[in-house]
Amino acid sequence: MSKPLRAGGEVDSWCTKCKLVLNHRVIAMVGGTPVRVECSTCMSHHNFRARAPGEKAPSTGISRASSASPRSRATSATKAQQAALDRERSWEKAVSGKAVSEFRSYGVDQTFAEGDLIRHKKFGDGIVTRILDPKKVEILFKDEPRTLAQGLTD
Ligand SMILES: [Zn+2]
Repeated sequence: MSKPLRAGGEVDSWCTKCKLVLNHRVIAMVGGTPVRVECSTCMSHHNFRARAPGEKAPSTGISRASSASPRSRATSATKAQQAALDRERSWEKAVSGKAVSEFRSYGVDQTFAEGDLIRHKKFGDGIVTRILDPKKVEILFKDEPRTLAQGLTD
C-alpha cells in the first residue's frame, strides 16, 4: 500500500539549489501532485520537479513505489527458481553420461555410500549426496532430494 502524498509529507524532488534529486518536504499540493517543496538538505523552497532537468520521464502515472515492488517479488521468485535450477544442474552433472551399469537399483536392504548412482523404481535416477545415518541416506533425484531408508535387514 503506497501512502498518498500530502502537504507536510515527503517526496523526492530535484533541488534547484543542490542540483540533486533529494528528499523534500511537500509545502503545497495541487490535485494529488506536489507543486511546492522544501529541500530537506538546504531548506530552500522551489517548485516540485520529479527528476533532473533534461531527464526524460519514463511515463507518468507509474509511481516509484509500484515500480519497485514487483521487482522485489521477482527477486525472491528468482532465488527459489535459481536454487531449483542449481539442484537440477548438479543432478544432471552427476548422472549424465553414466552407463546404465553404473547405477544400482535402490532397495531398503542396500547400504549406500556418498556418490553412489541410484536407480529408483518410482523416482528415477539419483545420486547419493549424504549419508544421514546408518539407516538413512539422502539421494538427489531430478526433481528434488529425498531422504530414503538404507540398510534395513528385516
Ligand atoms: Zn537543496
